[in-house]
Amino acid sequence: MKVAVFSTKAYDETHLNKFNEGKHEFTYIPARLTKLTASLADGHEAICCFVNDQLSTECIEIMANYGVQYIAMRCAGYNNVDLNACAQHNIKVVRVPEYSPYAVAEHAVALMMDLNRNIHRAFSRVREHYYILDGLLGFDMYGKTIGVIGTGKIGVCLIKIMLGFGCKVVAYDLYPSDEVKALGVDYRSLNDLYKLSDVISLHCPLNSDTHHMINAAALNKMKKGVMIINTSRGGLVDTVAVIEGLKTEQIGHLGLDVYEEETDLFFEDFSNTILQDDVFARLLTFSNVVITGHQAFFTREALDAISKVTLNNLTALELGDLDKACLIPFP
Ligand code: NAD
Repeated sequence: MKVAVFSTKAYDETHLNKFNEGKHEFTYIPARLTKLTASLADGHEAICCFVNDQLSTECIEIMANYGVQYIAMRCAGYNNVDLNACAQHNIKVVRVPEYSPYAVAEHAVALMMDLNRNIHRAFSRVREHYYILDGLLGFDMYGKTIGVIGTGKIGVCLIKIMLGFGCKVVAYDLYPSDEVKALGVDYRSLNDLYKLSDVISLHCPLNSDTHHMINAAALNKMKKGVMIINTSRGGLVDTVAVIEGLKTEQIGHLGLDVYEEETDLFFEDFSNTILQDDVFARLLTFSNVVITGHQAFFTREALDAISKVTLNNLTALELGDLDKACLIPFP
């Protein structure tokens, strides 16, 4: 099948080629999919997209006009895909529901531990031969309460790691899982979770119910000095409210791998340009905020798995073997 791969980085090309065995013909396109770049899909039966490609109503219409029949997301989340438009044009959409939940959960823990023990500040201090410990005081994770919102594949991995640290875990999910209950984790209301948790980690999808769930009202229900970790989707957090929470010290630490306005920022080199996003600029001024550029998924194992599942999805679609494709149901 001829596939236009948008938002291609060198590592995408390497990993897709590694497992392709000549089955599919890829056109690698470094640009993000937007209505301006959509014409590059011409002549392809499928497009392959990532988290910040714009699969809007308009782009889907353009795809349909070019004869694109399939969209293969090389990620788990699909909040950037207008599924109604896909349904209308009968464009089938597949994704990679699970590649390495460990990668994302472990990155959430990396952010937690970096923030807690001030590793990012210690790193710079030692390089400057400045060995003063003031300002680096952390806390034992042992015995602390971790609130996990969303106990799917990644949430469960995180819970197991945190239990290994000797933490207490409370959880919230619309659909509590028996596996999580069997680990001895308490499902609580969102309000209870906010009240009880020293650290809150977000692992639910972004949708109209969860958009800005971490807002001023939610922050007011949390413990003073709470640590918030978001490796899920930027839109879960109201960034302006969170900045206010950092200023009042209601939030003690903030670890982000995702940002609500990341689309025009992450995965690109802006090192020679002036940052235009004042909200993001303000976030960067806090020494108790650590931000990574959507890299939680970025392990060798995860990239291998993403490529294998994407290739299987494309082959299954080509053969009409829909049972073997990870299809996203139309709404
Ligand atoms: P999953 O589908 O296995 O789990 C999501 C869980 O959230 C489910 O248990 C679901 O019931 C729950 N949920 C749904 N709506 C909810 C709500 N309103 N409140 C509370 N819980 C709710 O997904 P996953 O594989 O664990 O991934 C979780 C999220 O992580 C994805 O949606 C994606 O956005 C994000 N993600 C980020 C990266 C990264 O690199 N930063 C990589 C992969 C996934």
